[in-house]
Amino acid sequence: MARNTGPVCRMCRREGMKLFLKGLRCDTNKCAFERRQTPPGMHTFRRGKLTDYGIHLREKQKVKHFYGVLERQFRRYFQRAERAKGNTGKVLMSLLERRLDSIVHRLGWGPSRAQSRQMICHGHITVNGSPVDIAGYEVRVGDVIGVKLRKKSTELVQANMSEFQRELPDFLVRVEGEKPEGQIVRLPEAEDVSIPVEPNLIVELCSK
Ligand code: SF4
Repeated sequence: MARNTGPVCRMCRREGMKLFLKGLRCDTNKCAFERRQTPPGMHTFRRGKLTDYGIHLREKQKVKHFYGVLERQFRRYFQRAERAKGNTGKVLMSLLERRLDSIVHRLGWGPSRAQSRQMICHGHITVNGSPVDIAGYEVRVGDVIGVKLRKKSTELVQANMSEFQRELPDFLVRVEGEKPEGQIVRLPEAEDVSIPVEPNLIVELCSK
């Protein structure tokens, strides 16, 4: 599946906030945003205030970069959110947060969403006991996310868990047992997103 393979730290600098795209490096003093908070590119000092359209666009781009989805895929999520009952912006954020790569990252098994996506594509992850290699797989309440029962997979997850320690969101629980497992206890909501986002700005932009 298509993905962005370009430099990622410039995305944080462009959006003016840390998007935690590089895993462990983001928590060290090597973080590019900590060292230089100006937007990437030349002549940034000449750029004036953002227009109204610019503010809306930056909000959408921020969410796309954060979840690692490209434009077409993002539009599909938006169309689904529009058709669903409830507040479109909140449904959109919930759909993105339900992606399997996001869940694997929130469980602390992958230091970043990109690394979690790679773990899924390489067949390390199971859902309800069956191997799933689709990073965008949408989890449901009660799903048990596990690790394939082979030495390579469990060692990889355990090594990541010991290095990368983040607080578990309350829509997830870790299941105690021989191998790492996690369960979805409720659907994630817009409030569970770990960066500040204003979904209404995205809805205003995409509904035009
Ligand atoms: Fe962003 Fe992480 Fe790079 Fe820092 S290290 S700029 S948080 S991707």
